[in-house]
Formats: sequence, structure tokens, C-alpha cells
Amino acid sequence: MFDVLKQKLNDFSKKLKTTLSREPESFPQESKPALPESKLISSEEPKRVLKAEISAISKVKHVFSSKVKLSEKDLEDLLFDLELSLLEADVAHSTSQAICSSIKEKLLSMEFDKSNLDSAIQKEIRSVLISSISIPSFSLFDKVKQSSKKPFTILLLGPNGAGKTTTIAKLSHYFLEHNLKIVLAAADTFRAASIEQLAEHAQRLKVRMIAHTYGSDPAAVAFDAVRSAEAGHIDVVLIDSAGRQETNTNLMQELKKMVRVVKPDLKIFIGESLAGHALLDQALEYHEQLSLDGFILTKLDTDTKGGTIISLLHEIKKPVLFLGIGQKYSDLIEFNLDYILEKII
Ligand code: GDP
Repeated sequence: MFDVLKQKLNDFSKKLKTTLSREPESFPQESKPALPESKLISSEEPKRVLKAEISAISKVKHVFSSKVKLSEKDLEDLLFDLELSLLEADVAHSTSQAICSSIKEKLLSMEFDKSNLDSAIQKEIRSVLISSISIPSFSLFDKVKQSSKKPFTILLLGPNGAGKTTTIAKLSHYFLEHNLKIVLAAADTFRAASIEQLAEHAQRLKVRMIAHTYGSDPAAVAFDAVRSAEAGHIDVVLIDSAGRQETNTNLMQELKKMVRVVKPDLKIFIGESLAGHALLDQALEYHEQLSLDGFILTKLDTDTKGGTIISLLHEIKKPVLFLGIGQKYSDLIEFNLDYILEKII
């Protein structure tokens, strides 16, 4: 069944892929990816209608009643379509199977009014989906305000190219808008031009940045940034970090050292929503090694349905705090579950 699903998925995604492009203006960067004209995914994309086909047997069983109880057979097509919709949206296979099986269990246990069967089923699907990915979250600003520790330190982690530096600039903008003072730590001492890239943001945003030279110890950079923030009565330190495309032992040791030295209040993983299934594997690896506190997903303005967010929430059970929806400083929105569900079901 999975082969058929995959084939259908491939055919369908080919039809869907329409990456529009425009030139970004506002960000200093080395390479500029194609951007869509619209920030949000078009709601005109085809959506599957999720309906149960009541079999003749079920009809006969409930012929004298206004209620109906669905059988496994009645739900077969609906569950197939639902799983396909989840896979097409980049939800991981294990996650979509687990979600579909909870939905099946719930629908089989219920009795439905015949007159509004379809809407009742859709309501139940939505509610099971929401409950399987709803986890406690928090507002970053409130967290900082309520903390007795000053400076509040946030370590940003994730693979190269996911949008860490850009998101640090966006978070700086967010904190500045909330009248908080910040310092940046250029602790990605590995990737060429990463320090200059962050420095350019720091200059534009008029915030202080602490940097050493390339190849120096990232933990020392982060430590100096925290010291400098303490001396300057700064509210928040945002620490950039290196990321390789593949997670590797050296990188993890380096990051663990940084965690030991500065004891960040939050470790936030930045992942690009376009990475699909690879994102879940990367996040799981980081979580296993460093125990993450939350996620920020970037590039939701591109050709992605964002189903990886469902996999992350379901498998790792840590909150998604923000979504990156473009390259401007203000293109960072607080996470909203409805926004993602709308795209998927
Ligand atoms: P890093 O290697 O993780 O620090 O990634 P960068 O911050 O350098 O970002 C890599 C590329 O992704 C840059 O071209 C950014 O402008 C771009 N980028 C980051 N966030 C977003 C986003 O939310 N939407 C779009 N379209 N591009 C983004």
C-alpha cells in the first residue's frame, strides 16, 4: 500500500510544485534563493474531500435509525485519502500512520447522525489531529520578562542554510520592538562569512555583537557575550552557532561545550520547513544530544505545506515558537496551529 501511496504522492506533488521567484531586497546574504510572490500558500490548491462511503451492510444495519455506526470498511477510502493528504504535506510516514490510527479508533467508537455525517466526521478528524499535536507552549517575550535571570540567554541551533542567522536578526528585531536590550554572540566560527553576515545585521539593528576570529572556540565567544551583557545590563543574549549539513560528532561536542559553559535558558532549533522528512531526523538528533526547548521553522512563504511541523510536534513534543515567512525583519510570526492545519486538511 505504501508504494501506491508514494506513487500517488509523487504524481500529485509534481503537479503542485510551482515555485515562483522574486529578488529579495532587505537582507545581507551570500546567496539569494527564489522566493514566491505570495507569502502564504495559495488556498486554491486542490484539497481532498474526506468522506466516509457507507457500505450496504452498514446501511441495512441502521435502516430504522437516524444514527449510524461506521465500520472499518466504511472508513477505508477516507483513511487512505487522509493519509495521502498528510504524506503530501510532508508529514512523516510514522506520524501520519499514528495519527490515522487514532482517528480510525475514534471514528469507530462513535455513533453519527446520518443527516450531518460528513461534517461530523471532519470535525472529529480535526479534533483528533489537534489533540495529537497540541503541546504546551509559551510566549518568548513573556518567558524573558518573567525570568529572574539577566541576561536571558538563547542558543540558536540547526543545520547550515536553515536560516539561523536570518532568524537571529528577526528575533533581535522582535526583542527590540518589545523594548528589550540585546547582545549577539557570533559563535558560528566555522562557516565562511558567518561573522560578517551577523555583523551586518547587528549594524543595521544597532545592537552590540561579540565576535572572535574564525576557528576560535565558540564557547569562549558565547561566554564573552554573556559577560559583556552582564556588565551592560542587557536583557537578552542571542547566540548563533555552527551547523553542518550532516550532524557530526565534533559539532555536537562543540555545541555541548557551549551549553556547559553558558547554560543557556533556551535551546531553540531552527529548521527550514522545506527540508521535509530530513528535518525530523535532524531535529531528533539535536534533541537527543542537546535536549531542545523549542523550534522555529523558516521559509513557510515558499512552496511548502509545512507538514513537517506536525511531525515535529507529534514526535518531539516541544513547542514551535515562531514561523519565518520571508526575508524581512518583520517576517516572523508567532506559531498558530490553525494556520498549518488549514493548509493540510
Ligand atoms: P544559516 O546558515 O542557518 O545561518 O542560514 P541563513 O540565515 O544564512 O539563511 C539562509 C538563506 O535562507 C538566506 O538566503 C536567507 O535569506 C534565507 N531565509 C531565511 N529565513 C527565510 C524565510 O523565512 N523565508 C525565506 N524565503 N528565506 C529565508
